Amino acid sequence: MPTDPVAIARELIRCRSITPDEGGALAYLQGLLSRAGFEVHRAVFAEPGTAPVDNLYARIGRSRPNLLFAGHTDVVPAGNEGAWSHPPFGGEIVGNRLYGRGAVDMKGGIACFVAAAIDYLAAHGGKPKGSISLLITGDEESVAVNGTVKLLKWAAERGESFDHCILGEPSNVGVLGDTIKAGRRGSLNGTLIVTGRQGHVAYPERADNPIRGLMSLMAALQAPLDEGSEHFSPSHLEFTSVDVGNATVNLIPGEASARFNVRYNDRHSQTALKTLIEHRAKVAAGGRVHYSFEWQPSNADVFVTKPGPFTELAVAAIADITGRQPKLSTSGGTSDARFIKNYCPVLEFGLVGQTMHQTDESTPVQDLVTLTAIYRRIVEKYFG
Ligand SMILES: [Zn+2]
Repeated sequence: MPTDPVAIARELIRCRSITPDEGGALAYLQGLLSRAGFEVHRAVFAEPGTAPVDNLYARIGRSRPNLLFAGHTDVVPAGNEGAWSHPPFGGEIVGNRLYGRGAVDMKGGIACFVAAAIDYLAAHGGKPKGSISLLITGDEESVAVNGTVKLLKWAAERGESFDHCILGEPSNVGVLGDTIKAGRRGSLNGTLIVTGRQGHVAYPERADNPIRGLMSLMAALQAPLDEGSEHFSPSHLEFTSVDVGNATVNLIPGEASARFNVRYNDRHSQTALKTLIEHRAKVAAGGRVHYSFEWQPSNADVFVTKPGPFTELAVAAIADITGRQPKLSTSGGTSDARFIKNYCPVLEFGLVGQTMHQTDESTPVQDLVTLTAIYRRIVEKYFG
């Protein structure tokens, strides 16, 4: 009897693992994986100012290559549970769709690679030709401080090494098999602060309105940062908030600021990007506007997993099962792949992302079956 990914997904959805709570999800996986012969470890990480988070690492086999499957069992809150057509932690199947928070992001994906790994082992005498590892965190949806980044370090300190990784995040856009994520843009947050001179609004000549300066600098910074690169769309800077905080109608404020985020491609390092933005502001300011930048620390660097044998293997497996030729994409937000890429090449492939983080998050039951078949094919080809 093949392992049923749908049953695993339903069990996981019924665990209230709202970030950063473990909610029983890792305990359930630990039982399942131990019974299949995996050596399973749990690791709780903590640091001041953050909640302690439970994580899981499992491995079967001691030889190379070591194929890693990665994911997270934590989910975002359900929001207004009454607005859901089916309870967010019920794991109900209605009209051939499985409903629940995490159905696609990403308990569904975990259920599929766990089922695929167990079935692969059952078909090969309980042992892989190399090793299969699973790295499952409970801290992806929130601050991502006590999760994958520390679990990878913990594993490396134990002597673990990985050859390739599949991260089971919902990578597909419209239909299962349409997209593999093979890299992500970097993300950087900053604040632009313009200082002027406060004064009476009726006597602007005696004041220096920082809003004027802020507007001219903002206009200059919003221009495209590049034309894109081989694997990436153009980098862009988006302002997310403009803040003066002036409640008085007849007062020219003394300071104005604007917060922004930059999504950047592989034409920039973080340092070079800051230099470019600061240079643009300097030119626009022309010595007349007084300004400064505050940069927030960022652990989301750009990366790309270049096409090669591993990518080809994944593409072929997806094409075998779905008949589709997946596109290699670097679009979208950041994910834990930004940490994994420091240890081994990583591709992201999972369910269809359409309903992730939404009310009535759900996946077709058939997609769970198909994704399991794809992961199984990937494992077969990898050790084949
Ligand atoms: Zn996710």
